[in-house]
Amino acid sequence: MHQTSLSRNGLVAAFFLVAASASASAQSDAVAAFDQARAFSDVTTMVGLGPRPLGSDALEANRAYIETQLREAGLDPVRDEFVGSTPIGEVAMANIIARVAPRAGAPTDTRLVLASHFDTKLFDGVDFVGANDGASSTAVLLELGRVLAEHRPGLPVDLVFFDGEEAVVAWTDDDSIYGSRHLAARWQREGDLDSIGALILLDMVGDASLQIPRELNSTNWINDVIWDAARELGYEAHFPETVHAIQDDHLPFLQRGVDAVDLIDFTYGAGNRHWHQPSDTLDKLSADSLGIVGRVVLHSLPTLELLLGG
Ligand SMILES: [Zn+2]
Repeated sequence: MHQTSLSRNGLVAAFFLVAASASASAQSDAVAAFDQARAFSDVTTMVGLGPRPLGSDALEANRAYIETQLREAGLDPVRDEFVGSTPIGEVAMANIIARVAPRAGAPTDTRLVLASHFDTKLFDGVDFVGANDGASSTAVLLELGRVLAEHRPGLPVDLVFFDGEEAVVAWTDDDSIYGSRHLAARWQREGDLDSIGALILLDMVGDASLQIPRELNSTNWINDVIWDAARELGYEAHFPETVHAIQDDHLPFLQRGVDAVDLIDFTYGAGNRHWHQPSDTLDKLSADSLGIVGRVVLHSLPTLELLLGG
């Protein structure tokens, strides 16, 4: 299902003028509406809940916070409850899904998915609050939801907040990405995978020194659109043309033929030294980074929508 960047590049160019004329004002309104201070406030609130590992009261509080914010934006979040079979036993988990309806007259047979995980990794005896790894991308996704509820997209957008991304003991195929494995399998069973035109996963997007290379498992044509958007907004320094390969919540969808990308900054401090460490705290983050990622996603949407028939 991976399409070559060459075939899509021509389409990107061909559609550029159309995108510029048809959606320019709606697009720039949405990009301008992304409130990075509000996103940073969401990060602060979620970090304030403390460690949020699987099955914890703090994770449930985080879930409730996500739902409250989505409802205040006029959206209707639903829980996708399931039981994760983990090395420490069966654990009740729940993803949260909110559908943003497109603007009037838009097609509805193809949809976009924007996603993040909201759990933090379990560490015994360590106060791991996951400011970047868990909270940052969740906050950007919440703010994207607020913006898109106001500035309706050209295709339906599912906001998906994944539970259980983190390994409970050590990362293996069976001990990781519980929420995305569950939802990809469920949507496949229910016939809801084929209508996903593109899935954009956000993870670790708040580092004040933001560097998001192209992720190698990801679908090229979607990355091309996103990297073009970053360049158009003047953010190319934060979206370098370097590559890395990361296992993350996009994999269960890719494995089922869904075009998907992972926007992840895995250079969190020198040598990635803040990753999965007690030092993953608010002071390492900046609102600017949240804003950069949010605006790049919003700026890429009209092109994605046009390429996907929206
Ligand atoms: Zn992690």
